[in-house]
Amino acid sequence: MLARGLCEIYERISNDGGSVQQDSSLPPIARRALARLSRLCVDEGVEDIGSSIHLVMGRATLPMRSWGVPSFADGFRYGDVELADGSLGVPTDDCRELARMGGSEINAEEDLHHEQLRAAVQSYPASQRASAYTAIRELVVRRPVISQNELHDFISRGHAHAARTIHGLYRSIPQGALSGGVARRCGRCGALLWPVRDPAFPDGRCQVRQCVLEGETVPGEVIDQPSLSRLANAALLAFWVGPGLDEVRLHDALIARGRNSVLYPMADAADVGLDALSVGLDVKSYASPLVLGARLSRGIGRLSLFGRRVIVVPDYKLRINPRYIDDLRGAYTGDEALEFMTVASAIRAFGV
Ligand SMILES: [Zn+2]
Repeated sequence: MLARGLCEIYERISNDGGSVQQDSSLPPIARRALARLSRLCVDEGVEDIGSSIHLVMGRATLPMRSWGVPSFADGFRYGDVELADGSLGVPTDDCRELARMGGSEINAEEDLHHEQLRAAVQSYPASQRASAYTAIRELVVRRPVISQNELHDFISRGHAHAARTIHGLYRSIPQGALSGGVARRCGRCGALLWPVRDPAFPDGRCQVRQCVLEGETVPGEVIDQPSLSRLANAALLAFWVGPGLDEVRLHDALIARGRNSVLYPMADAADVGLDALSVGLDVKSYASPLVLGARLSRGIGRLSLFGRRVIVVPDYKLRINPRYIDDLRGAYTGDEALEFMTVASAIRAFGV
């Protein structure tokens, strides 16, 4: 219920640009969830975080087991779930799947971008649609910050049909990302390092969760004329660029080993396809293997088109939870045969 409430709140913010207020403007499901959480906190004799949506939104970026509520700690099925992506202000994959398990119809913003892109490539000749989808999505993933000149060059090389859609994937660099009038690129994912007060991050901090999880900040180049550059939309940073780090790593490693690998084949039937329909690999970075298992049990979409279907999880998941793959395998109850690997093991398995 809490996941559903948060999804509705975030959807409202992204549609109306409004701020969250603790009043009757809160979605009813969020108010009911807060009331339940409040009762739980009072029963368990801990701080009543259900009394304020702001307290909950502050906690939502942490694993639920560290919220300070005993019921969410030891043994709680979803203790490893983080509900919100703090720096980008969007609900996580886990949150949206929990909301769906609770019966919500979620119109995720990244599905919207995916649908817009699929619609835009329909105006290409049929034989070019799949490769156009791949090229445009790969552009955003590899170049989350791009100069206007580079963007125009890309569009002029055969993508005039989708010019409006491509421009819509990017926005101006926000003032908040600037420090002393310049912006700085993240040296790992290519997005931006945002200025923060924390002295531990003198060059700023990346907003892409998967990038931060990979290790220390890597300062990239300085962009001294930020008004001439564009930044990918927040939802795309969360849902294309973040997961894209591992997708591109996997694809590039397989290409370097001589494999016939394609990113986002057939307009995203899988993240990586090998030898046409022989192998489909989908990278998933859910915090909870149980929530991911439930998501996959609900259906695997067009991944079923491939002879072998492989769910790939980032290697750091195993550092956080060594049982991640076992838990995931146990939680998957679907009928379609799936294999489960980490990025490194997928490169070993298919890179020969
Ligand atoms: Zn980064």
